[in-house]
Amino acid sequence: MIRTGLPYEFRPSPNIEPRKDGIRPDILLMHYTEMESAAKACDWLCDPRSKVSCHYLVDETGEIVQMVDEAMRAWHAGQSSWRGESDINSRSIGIEIQNPGLRYGYRAFPDVQMRTVIALSKDIVARNGIRPERVLAHSDVAPGRKVDPGELFNWRLLHEAGIGHWVEPAPIDDGAGPKADESGPGVMQLQKALAGYGYGLPVTGIYDARTKTVVSAFQLHFRQARVDGIADRSTVETLDRLVAALDVTS
Ligand SMILES: [Zn+2]
Repeated sequence: MIRTGLPYEFRPSPNIEPRKDGIRPDILLMHYTEMESAAKACDWLCDPRSKVSCHYLVDETGEIVQMVDEAMRAWHAGQSSWRGESDINSRSIGIEIQNPGLRYGYRAFPDVQMRTVIALSKDIVARNGIRPERVLAHSDVAPGRKVDPGELFNWRLLHEAGIGHWVEPAPIDDGAGPKADESGPGVMQLQKALAGYGYGLPVTGIYDARTKTVVSAFQLHFRQARVDGIADRSTVETLDRLVAALDVTS
């Protein structure tokens, strides 16, 4: 339960089950609802027919609804993978952030909503001992299938508040990236870096469709100024900075 004194309403969702093998959550996963309102999202996430749920929902007004106890497995990640693990629901806590999304009009997340997301995340991360590099976007664990919370989600703000792993993105210049189906050591190195960081990407040495999809997912989180699936110089440099900033000692 939330400890920081944040007010919240509890509305239990029936769409839950125990975490597999008693796994303790070590990922915090961010989503947007892609619904017209938080009330509609809440109804859907609590409807047994939807077969989806989430631990928390944060409205644009900053109000929090908890739907699933953190000890339980909620159904928000779907088919996903990160660092070779595929049962992301068993090892994560999910926050749905109200936003109409691409379907109803994607827009900026209001400040009051972001402040609540940050306070809630701080609480979750501290209580569960979640490492910064395991605070992720739904798009990170399901590239191509999911794009939420998208390029307007302010990961920098979270990082400044001590949540998540993030580096200043390298500025966009005219440094071009590999073209479709191009191969070579550069492509291999890029794939290894992305897969090593956690993305579900086979290292083929070819700039194939999956690589483009994963590069887009990377950009949605770490190089939001341009999301095009092209591994230009800024993207590659940002990835290098990110990997170099990983704290491998702890
Ligand atoms: Zn999602």
